[in-house]
Amino acid sequence: MSERKPLMVGNWKMNASHLEAIQMVQKLAYRLETEDYQRAEVVVAPAFTALRSVQLTIEQDHMLIGLAAQDCHWEESGAFTGEVSAPMLAKLACRYVIVGHSERRRMFGETDEIVNKKARAVLANGMSPIICVGETLEEREAGDAEQVVTSQVKAAMSRLDQPGEVVVAYEPVWAIGTGRNALPDDAGLMAEIIRDKIREAHGSDVADRVRILYGGSVNPGNIKDFMAKKHIDGALVGGASLDPDQFAAIVRYWR
Ligand code: PEP
Repeated sequence: MSERKPLMVGNWKMNASHLEAIQMVQKLAYRLETEDYQRAEVVVAPAFTALRSVQLTIEQDHMLIGLAAQDCHWEESGAFTGEVSAPMLAKLACRYVIVGHSERRRMFGETDEIVNKKARAVLANGMSPIICVGETLEEREAGDAEQVVTSQVKAAMSRLDQPGEVVVAYEPVWAIGTGRNALPDDAGLMAEIIRDKIREAHGSDVADRVRILYGGSVNPGNIKDFMAKKHIDGALVGGASLDPDQFAAIVRYWR
């Protein structure tokens, strides 16, 4: 079984101007030490308008923090007013692109098919997609959570050239931004189910390599319980990642 390095991703969503984003990444780097980066890969996902500034800050200050974008279009270029393509993000030294976040599925009509097209575009440009999946409260209460999540994983990962490069973020919709996190046991079980599904579709090498994150009201007080689960390899953090003190404490959960 391959060693999976924990991955902590701060999703800043539609927050922070480029000036504020520079300060946030500087404060985060100031709080982290070499050992933190040895133990976990640390990534921030600012808004598109802040990517270049954060990229330059990271490079100039030789920070070990990685960069992610929050979305992309699946076409390389063309008449898609307002959209940003994967090659554009690759040029900004993004390592990751979040695709299929539940806010995009819910508010912007992103389907499994669109998520799959975006994941393929991200991989084709040498980056890794962070594919978000998760059930709504109604689906969980109806006993459909497992079926919903596994079918999202299957659809998002179909016909990928490098499925082993993917990151999957299990984010129950009802836990995002609500302060109501999933029970670590439930999240751990869902991560195991996701890995089994990946094993079935793509084989053991891929399944053992793919990192599965938990997301949904992660904070410094609950991260340790999630990270104790065998199949959870990190976290996708929204609200708490806007505060460098809190995000640093999440990264350093093992201390
Ligand atoms: C997210 O946006 O992916 C998320 C998990 O948000 P929060 O941590 O605020 O629940």
